[in-house]
Amino acid sequence: MNGTVYKSTGSWYTVKSSEGEFYECRIKGKFRTHGIKSTNPVAVGDYVEFQLESIGDETIGVISSIGERKNYIVRRSVKLSKQTHIIAANLDQVFLLVTLNNPPTFTSFIDRFLVTAEAYDIPVVLLFNKMDSYSEEEKLEVNWLMSLYSKIGYGCIPIEAKQGKNVDQVKELMLGNTSMFAGHSGVGKSTLVNALETGLELKTAEISEQHMQGQHTTTFAEMYDLSFDARIIDTPGIKGFGIVDMEKDEIGDYFPEFFALKSECKFNNCLHLDEPKCAVIEALENDEVAASRYRSYVQMVTGDEDNPYRER
Ligand code: GDP
Ligand code: ZN
Repeated sequence: MNGTVYKSTGSWYTVKSSEGEFYECRIKGKFRTHGIKSTNPVAVGDYVEFQLESIGDETIGVISSIGERKNYIVRRSVKLSKQTHIIAANLDQVFLLVTLNNPPTFTSFIDRFLVTAEAYDIPVVLLFNKMDSYSEEEKLEVNWLMSLYSKIGYGCIPIEAKQGKNVDQVKELMLGNTSMFAGHSGVGKSTLVNALETGLELKTAEISEQHMQGQHTTTFAEMYDLSFDARIIDTPGIKGFGIVDMEKDEIGDYFPEFFALKSECKFNNCLHLDEPKCAVIEALENDEVAASRYRSYVQMVTGDEDNPYRER
């Protein structure tokens, strides 16, 4: 039988068959891992093949293979000597909630998030929440950010989750898809999920970021069917995605507006830092590339570990 993994506890997997039945499954033997070394062979969102087996009067499923992943996100455990844990696979999109205040979301965080999503091939839509709470000046700033990011190619929607404003636009994008909501604690993820009338409550609200620290290996993502034709993957406490093995010279490729200029740089291995005749730096000087984006890029390439926004 074929199915999709909805939940994983590490030893048991809840799989929804293509007929819509849920089965508790175990895994058997070795898998083709598609070249990914991870602590978990099967992740939420994986398409799997499984067979039913009877043990006494109980029926369980045995997963025998996983399908190719169109994308996946990982978390890296520093404790477990940098082992990679696949949080979820086969996402159609991630909504990143952004607020200017309460809490502030810095462009360095947004850009780092976007780079990782580009690297993992996951479309991101930016949701600018709490529009009701901003001063005129802050509204101008949000408008500036929306034009900046939509010019690069990211969908941007201003919303008021609490009032339900524009959530229908979010819902429309969710139809038929598997989505995830991300953003700092307090940006309004749970409020939005409630406003969407999904029929479920997110865990994210109950788990503080403090609590999450050091527990990276014991939390699991879970997929839910919503009251309308859509699925979401809830990942308690995830602020951003881990980046695995990203080389310095590929980071620029994940800034789409830099990537578009790359062929115009004098050197084809240009890092856009201090090389002569760099098209990105020229564009920056002409205000065609945003200073905030370039700043984020430099922080990432120079591996500025002390950057206070690094994990925000
Ligand atoms: P989460 O941690 O991302 O799940 O955030 P919550 O959904 O728990 O929201 C954090 C706080 O922000 C709550 O007090 C919400 O009522 C508030 N909030 C959410 N959306 C809005 C909004 O559109 N406008 C305003 N003013 N507050 C909001
Ligand atoms: Zn360059």
